[in-house]
Amino acid sequence: MESFKIVLKSGKEQSIRRYHPWIFSGAIKKISGEPEEGDIVTVYDNKDNFLAFGHYQPGSIAVRILSFKDTEPDIEFFRGRIRSAFEFRKSMGLIDNQSINVFRLIHAEGDNLPGLIADFYDGVVVLQMHSVGMYRIRKEIAGIISELPGAGVKAIYDKSESTIPFKAGIEARNEFIYGDSAPAIVTENGFKFKIDWTTGQKTGFFIDQRENRKLLSEFTKGRSVLNMFGYTGGFSVYAMKDGGLVHSVDSSASAAGLADENVRLNFGDDARHQSFQVDAFEFLNDIKDKYDLIILDPPAFAKHNNALANALQGYKRLNMKAIGQIKPGGIIFTFTCSQVVTRENFRKSVFAAAANTGRNVRILHQMSQPPDHPVNIYHPESEYLKGLVLYVE
Ligand code: SAH
Repeated sequence: MESFKIVLKSGKEQSIRRYHPWIFSGAIKKISGEPEEGDIVTVYDNKDNFLAFGHYQPGSIAVRILSFKDTEPDIEFFRGRIRSAFEFRKSMGLIDNQSINVFRLIHAEGDNLPGLIADFYDGVVVLQMHSVGMYRIRKEIAGIISELPGAGVKAIYDKSESTIPFKAGIEARNEFIYGDSAPAIVTENGFKFKIDWTTGQKTGFFIDQRENRKLLSEFTKGRSVLNMFGYTGGFSVYAMKDGGLVHSVDSSASAAGLADENVRLNFGDDARHQSFQVDAFEFLNDIKDKYDLIILDPPAFAKHNNALANALQGYKRLNMKAIGQIKPGGIIFTFTCSQVVTRENFRKSVFAAAANTGRNVRILHQMSQPPDHPVNIYHPESEYLKGLVLYVE
């Protein structure tokens, strides 16, 4: 096999020696052999010491590191990593679980497989490849996943059309690459959700909120619940179990329909639930003393560092509206899923929002992502979901 070599500038090997899985283009001194996007490259320090193997891509992140060992990753390497991801979920009790059959099977850097996401929906696996290197071996990856012992994989859907870097010029199409399946009904903590991976956002469901939804159900009894940015109505369904009333708000018409459908699936026609298709900021202008539990789970306000300041302002504005208007003794579940917003920064935004209202606010819980979305300790960026449960006096 042709070998492509990348040599780093002096000093730029430090983060790699601490196992950080990205090499930024600015760290590179020399590239030899003209690698194409998706090729495996070997990375050396300035003194020609071997550092790692990774997938090459022209762009700000130039190499996504696969292995720090001195053996070129082959298909057995990927089999090992995928099996390890699976075994870990198994040890968490997620495989063959009566009340949960939807979880993340592979979480990119969190599972030492940068660029690869795989979500499991009752036997249907939805793949999202974020790198050309992973995309090129998607059939092999699908083969490995389909053979995972005891996983019961029936079909694999590749949904990489919108996640493969557009500049790569690869015309990725969303399609089944193993088996076939109609949209399914999955179970999460005993609740049912209809998932359409072909039309839905991300791979079809925000699996990452599973444990936070469960936590929510400790607070819903008899309360009037407002689920902002509700999408499929995940939080709404949990709140319907014993909530007084539940309102789901989303600006997208299809989301409002999905929330209604999922509530109906679990509770039939129940007048306690209502969906609103309206802009969140508009809806929040007039909610004074109407609700005693508010969920704020907006889309990522900042996708890049240069949008950080505006994003923090956005979180502050949003939280100010909720903290300022919630009924006394109310509870707020507030989140950010922006990778670039740190836990500290988010908390400061919420602090600023609270200070603006002058109300007494207690932090009851600090929320994160569940263990099937693990954080690679060498890659703090993989901790993207942060949230707070607040009590507003
Ligand atoms: N809480 C959801 C996930 C939310 S994703 C869950 O647990 O599944 C973010 C949602 O916010 C999307 O469905 C999107 O349609 C909606 N959205 C984006 N901008 C909005 C706005 N300005 N007002 C209302 N909803 C918005």
